[in-house]
Amino acid sequence: MDLRFFSTMDRRVVPFEPINAKEVGLYTCGPTVYNYAHIGNFRAYTFEDILRRTLEYAGYKVKQVMNLTDVDDKTIRDSKAAGVPLREFTQKYKEAFFEDVKTLNIERAAVYPAATDHIKEMIALIQVLMDKGFAYQAEDKCIYFSIAKFPDYGKLAHIDRDNQRAGVRINTDEYAKDSVADFALWKAWDEADGDVAWDSPWGKGRPGWHIECSAMSSKYLGDRFDLHTGGIDNMFPHHEDEIAQSEAASGHKWVNCWMHCEHLMVDGTKMSKSLGNFYTLRDLLAKGWTGREIRWVLIGAHYRKKLNFTLDMLAQARETLNRFDELFRRLKGITAPGDELPAQEAVAMAKERFDASIADDLNISGALAALFDLSRQANKLADEGRLSAAGAKVMLDAFRSFDRVTGALNVDAAPAAEAVPAEVEALAQQRADARKRKDFAESDRLRAEIAKLGFTVEDAPGGAYRLKKN
Ligand code: AMP
Ligand code: ZN
Repeated sequence: MDLRFFSTMDRRVVPFEPINAKEVGLYTCGPTVYNYAHIGNFRAYTFEDILRRTLEYAGYKVKQVMNLTDVDDKTIRDSKAAGVPLREFTQKYKEAFFEDVKTLNIERAAVYPAATDHIKEMIALIQVLMDKGFAYQAEDKCIYFSIAKFPDYGKLAHIDRDNQRAGVRINTDEYAKDSVADFALWKAWDEADGDVAWDSPWGKGRPGWHIECSAMSSKYLGDRFDLHTGGIDNMFPHHEDEIAQSEAASGHKWVNCWMHCEHLMVDGTKMSKSLGNFYTLRDLLAKGWTGREIRWVLIGAHYRKKLNFTLDMLAQARETLNRFDELFRRLKGITAPGDELPAQEAVAMAKERFDASIADDLNISGALAALFDLSRQANKLADEGRLSAAGAKVMLDAFRSFDRVTGALNVDAAPAAEAVPAEVEALAQQRADARKRKDFAESDRLRAEIAKLGFTVEDAPGGAYRLKKN
């Protein structure tokens, strides 16, 4: 499979060429653990999960690293407001995050480095930037990155360098494009930080958010790796600043391909904690939806398109997944002898379409269309009595294989439909023959016979029928 991904840096789809064929390095910016993650955050994490599963489906081994931001402006602010020590405060949300990841069937990363466990690495990286002249200590005792010293600054977000305000400094973690400035690598302690502080060569303080990801990604993936991802709001300033720090320190290109997902929206606005228009995963579980249904909605739109979230979409997901379950039960209940040729043909076509779609910048609509098509084919073959036990197995194996990417079909959770006794099958066949002769009295009589044995016959187009246990 030749994978192609949209590279944010290049603003176009490029072939995926791994640096090291044995193992792909993937860094995903993880949660800031100051609250329960909302489903907008989980759109980013499910996009990254689909990316990782696609790489694995294509045969790559993937080393995924996802950081936990457990010290930054927001965690300090909210732990203080709650009157709980930072570590204890963030611990609760770290645990909640891992539970949510499991509920959504997101594959676990190889490492989840927490920022507070890597202060030493961050200080070492800042020291390199100081030694090389990219960073300086200002009168406020904070250490800043001098964007004027790094000519490539702005290459990811495509910022016009002419409008940059040289010498202006910013020391909040988040800021907008129109306030491009020297940004803080190390923030000198102030009263608002309370007891959150570490010693450094530049005095007591704490790291800026951006240096956390530069230091932790390179610790686990090296100073050159394949893929770095996040939501589109991470592109600036977070990722732009990460590039500046990491490439200034190493003197060479850092990440091969940057990928970003678009936002999950509610009523046309980005779902976010600060706007208060969010659902956590827990909110939706409490309303009776399952992780599987929520995952189905989150993965259903292409990652570079905005996804407007409604509860109605969850109802649709439930219906769709129920239909898949019904099909899997049906396939597992098929015991007829015969060859598997018709199933193999249908599966080959579906696989071609599925693989071509998902390889093409994770075209999920195409991939799901292949799944829907195959499920229609499977039902049709079964309706026509053309599916043997061997053929049904070929179908089930195909769905299992596609579900290595989608992670939501859960083929093996569906119990087998009760096998239809031969006697019932024979009566149904006689009834189909009667219908062909337009002998409806006989057909009705046979329907009643079948009902007595505990089954209902449903007629399908073209004289086909389906038997259901009552
Ligand atoms: P945060 O915890 O705010 O650092 O965000 C964690 C991840 O979620 C980042 O990759 C963000 O870009 C992403 N994110 C935040 N809000 C949304 C949203 N509404 N839709 C998609 N991704 C989001
Ligand atoms: Zn990050």
